[in-house]
Amino acid sequence: MIVVIDGPAGSGKSTVARALGRREGLTYLDTGAMYRCVTLAALERGVDPSDACALGALARSVTIAFGPAAEPGGAPTVLLDGRDVTSAIRTAEVDSNVSAVSGVPAVREAMVAQQRAVGAAGDVVAEGRDMGTVVFPDADVKVFLSADAAARARRRTMEREGTDPRTPGAEVRDLALYERICRDILARDAGDEAHAVGALRCADDAVRLDSTSMTADEVVDAVASLVDG
Ligand code: C5P
Repeated sequence: MIVVIDGPAGSGKSTVARALGRREGLTYLDTGAMYRCVTLAALERGVDPSDACALGALARSVTIAFGPAAEPGGAPTVLLDGRDVTSAIRTAEVDSNVSAVSGVPAVREAMVAQQRAVGAAGDVVAEGRDMGTVVFPDADVKVFLSADAAARARRRTMEREGTDPRTPGAEVRDLALYERICRDILARDAGDEAHAVGALRCADDAVRLDSTSMTADEVVDAVASLVDG
């Protein structure tokens, strides 16, 4: 069973894919974390972001692995060459460079090969941008999850502030952070949609869900009914 969830930044893919994985016994694959790892490695090693050849070689040379979440229901630990980079891949610097790095065809080729290997090994719920169009075109269930930009920025900001966006009455605390994240996700949407290969796009046979006014549980129920049905 392969389930794919594609969509723009902050649409709720990670929360939904993790919960669905637990409910349906599927391995959760966060492909955005993989592109973030390559971006972090490039920034740390001073690889020129316009040097496609060097970025491709870097993507082929790094080892990316996932370990158990630090807390139950949380994000899996992300390991880059054996080092825990779970927090380091979610900084403003990585946010603003990841779309350019992931637009390099050789980087995508290296990541897609690893993603397909995970899919070939068993039951998977994979989230990203091109899961339904490129990586797993024959997936059993395809979902394209969207939400309006303000809702996405709010969720992402609260996540970074350590607040559960589902808590009644919870609000964004740091408005400057919210504005920065809003600008970032709009720029990233535009960059991700413009990729020459693997662009952010809804597969023709995907079910579209707009999560703007849905709770995470409602989205999980909707996707689970596609899986079970
Ligand atoms: O999902 P997340 O926001 O962590 O993804 C980070 C970035 O990784 C995206 O903005 C996009 O540039 C890239 N990405 C991609 N293809 C995927 C998953 C993520 O290009 N399948």
